[in-house]
Amino acid sequence: MSGRLQQIKYPFSAEARKTSQKMARDLGVLVELLEEQENHYIVEEAEKRVYAALTQSQIRYPTMENEKDVLIYPTARLIVEELGLPRLRALQAEAESKEANRQLGTENSDLVIELCKSSFNWSIESMGDINERSKLPLLLRTFEMKIRFENYLEVAPGFHSEEWSLINRYLDKGWIPIRRSELDRLISGKFKQLIMGGRFDIPKMSRRLIETVQRIEAETKGRIRQAEPVKMTETVVSAFPPCIQKMYDDSIRGDVNLSHDARFALAAFLLKIGMEANEVEKVFSSSPDKNISLIEYQVRHIASKRSMGVEDEGYTPPGCKKMQVNNLCPVYLGTASDPLCEYILNPLAFYQTRAWEITKNIQDHSWYARKRDKKQNF
Ligand code: SF4
Repeated sequence: MSGRLQQIKYPFSAEARKTSQKMARDLGVLVELLEEQENHYIVEEAEKRVYAALTQSQIRYPTMENEKDVLIYPTARLIVEELGLPRLRALQAEAESKEANRQLGTENSDLVIELCKSSFNWSIESMGDINERSKLPLLLRTFEMKIRFENYLEVAPGFHSEEWSLINRYLDKGWIPIRRSELDRLISGKFKQLIMGGRFDIPKMSRRLIETVQRIEAETKGRIRQAEPVKMTETVVSAFPPCIQKMYDDSIRGDVNLSHDARFALAAFLLKIGMEANEVEKVFSSSPDKNISLIEYQVRHIASKRSMGVEDEGYTPPGCKKMQVNNLCPVYLGTASDPLCEYILNPLAFYQTRAWEITKNIQDHSWYARKRDKKQNF
């Protein structure tokens, strides 16, 4: 396969975008093009690609023997955006990024570096061949390349593992040494971000595409659970951890202005457990500063990030350590206690466990000590 064909198989590549736009300058033209008999196969392949994402199976890249194959990916994106299901978009982002990562693993480094430069404008440099690297300090010898830290930070903070944290990386004059496999992961992570953040105006769909969307929609039923929004009931409130309970009570009473950190933690928590933005805004409506428009703005801002749909991305409520640093943990401050707090690291984990206990009517909490390791001591 030629270098160009090798690049256009990656949907995020500048080459793929250029080739797509040459054939269909916008989505309206794409829809028209897909109506032509000879292009029906593109819709079929796109449907298979979305179906693979939905069923969490491996998606297959087209052979690219026909340049039109490059249109399969934008068609698959169109189908998903027309459905407008954040969870399906998240599944698509996951499947596409996984396949990109797998394919990148088979490429030579020159092609991968070129992809980074032309697609994302990243600066990547080689750390030299094995002989040159053998002269470097021991801890740097396994890194084949280096990336500018600002490019690294576009993606790495979204990864959970500690090794991606900037404080655990060697940084020299703005360059971070990385392994080839790590670069592949950064690229596929960037691709995932692009899918998650990508929004476009959907053109009028053709009958063929509508039928495809309907088939995928039928498949999503039963596979994607459409969670009912959580209402602020007594049961829900009784599963709140002490920190959230205190902020919630203060907010409802309306006798103090919550700090910015407290407002963020409470809003992010309530949204994350599935409450709708207007319900969350009501919680802040008694705020003495009556800055309702700011509150609405903040809540909508956090909610819009959540609606990007990936459970492990977006605005996650701060963990216990952060809450403690911000003086928002009453257990740490010694003004409240709950045995469950010793066995979790995040208010959400507290809520999930306590909500489960409530549904099972479990009042004896001694099982924590039998089943769980302590995570923090007060
Ligand atoms: S330990 Fe965590 S969950 Fe418990 S009150 Fe403190 S911050 Fe909240």
